[in-house]
Amino acid sequence: MPDSAKDLLAGLGAQPVLFRDGLWCEGSGGPLAVLNPATGVEIARITLAGPSDFAAAATGAEAALASWRHEPGAARGEILKKVAALLSVKRQALAELLTQEQGKVLAQALGEVDYAASFFQWFGEEARRPVGRLQPHPVRDREYRVKYAPAGVACLVTPWNFPLAQGAKKIAAALAAGCTAVWKPSELTPLVALALGALMKEAGLPPGVLQVLPALGPVAGEAMTGDARFRVISLTGSTQTGRTVLKASAKHLPRLSLELGGNAPFVILPDADLDEVVPDLVKLKLLCSGQVCVTANRVFVPAALEAALIEKLSQVWRGLRVGDGLQSGMDVGPLIHAQACARVRGLVEDAVSGGAEIVAENRSHEAHASLAGGSFFPPTLLRGVRDDMALAQEEIFGPVLPLLTYGDMDEAVRRSNATAAGLSAYVYGRDLSQAQAVADALEAGIVGINEWRPLRAEIPFGGTKSSGQGWEGGEEGLREFMEIKVISAPSPRLRASGPR
Ligand code: NAD
Repeated sequence: MPDSAKDLLAGLGAQPVLFRDGLWCEGSGGPLAVLNPATGVEIARITLAGPSDFAAAATGAEAALASWRHEPGAARGEILKKVAALLSVKRQALAELLTQEQGKVLAQALGEVDYAASFFQWFGEEARRPVGRLQPHPVRDREYRVKYAPAGVACLVTPWNFPLAQGAKKIAAALAAGCTAVWKPSELTPLVALALGALMKEAGLPPGVLQVLPALGPVAGEAMTGDARFRVISLTGSTQTGRTVLKASAKHLPRLSLELGGNAPFVILPDADLDEVVPDLVKLKLLCSGQVCVTANRVFVPAALEAALIEKLSQVWRGLRVGDGLQSGMDVGPLIHAQACARVRGLVEDAVSGGAEIVAENRSHEAHASLAGGSFFPPTLLRGVRDDMALAQEEIFGPVLPLLTYGDMDEAVRRSNATAAGLSAYVYGRDLSQAQAVADALEAGIVGINEWRPLRAEIPFGGTKSSGQGWEGGEEGLREFMEIKVISAPSPRLRASGPR
């Protein structure tokens, strides 16, 4: 039996309070219970940050910046690479903590820890690489020096679906760039964030370089947009929250990086091999119980392939094990909370009342009495979904797979792009030049051709349209936290000095 969340947190060197200036301290925002979504049982009680804690964190982060920004990139990178190594050492304990507070099955939680480590490793290496340039000047005996400099104190805001990896992407990039950071993890999943704070201290990060402040969203939003010392705000969350932060940022105009919601099309081409499509589609859809910004939200299948696809998917559906992610062999965990279940249920009921049909459903969690208080939604396969249904227009954020049939390729592309979002897309087919042509025509920040998980630390990832602005990962991820400074100066000249 795995340890309790409280024991895991203590074993990782963390406490259920704020991590400020390298110390653990009570927050002024009051207590909050953290629940296990598989059982509904309280697993820890934390104290939240209030406005005064954000002000104190900004002061600490600004003080730490004075020294951290001048550390050689290589030295900053060494600490980040140590964090990557520590994440690997503590992989099991972190994953169990993650499953208990977030709900995803343990194998996926282990994958998230590895994914988080890959960002610390990547940006640990990149920290040495922001190279400026000397550029010729149009005026004789002058030159331009183009330099990169850390942008200042960054405020990082992350959601609950990948509480460790989303934090890792932002923290590793910000710190590699020479910024210091105040991290506001989701109030629903603060424990693994606090554990990461402890790990960073263990890796030798100086006090104040990273502060971890679990807080309610609007409290954090007001504090960070109202304080001119936060020079970067990097938010991952819903498009609605992105809009709110964008508007509030007009006051002090920090650099903004917004990673927001998606509505990904998954286009199955007429020549696709369904035996390759189905396992990938199922893995993509059921990752984190469908609560993923890049998940397949609309599956476009040629009308002639629909029956065969349904048969193969239904077979997989019957064998799925839905339950507590800590139990071995589970495929699908709960949703984050009961309200999320009610929202997804509403989308499915709306689609069914509009003519869609449920062709497969898996309620295997109902066999376990201990899960009666959990927030489970049965993985559901729907056919007959239309573009005008809410299910196809909104992020589903649940284990629901809607099938939409199409006639020709132009139609598939046009309907795929008929959404305000533009985060990710998938194309499956044997003829790669055809698949490439479709991928080129899709409006998305990243497209996987015959690949369900194209995201990696070494490539930039970001949305187009209402899915946001800015990048995470790749060399572009580092630039989000840097400013360019150009110095136009006389070229150095040899002094005409005689012998002394
Ligand atoms: P959310 O927008 O409710 O919350 C995200 C974070 O923002 C949380 O920490 C929350 O407390 C905070 N927040 C809420 N209101 C705020 C405010 N007024 N000011 C400042 N911060 C505020 O989103 P969620 O439900 O936690 O996450 C799911 C959403 O995140 C989905 O839309 C999903 O697509 C999106 N997401 C996007 C990406 C990406 O890379 N584009 C990755 C993961 C999740």
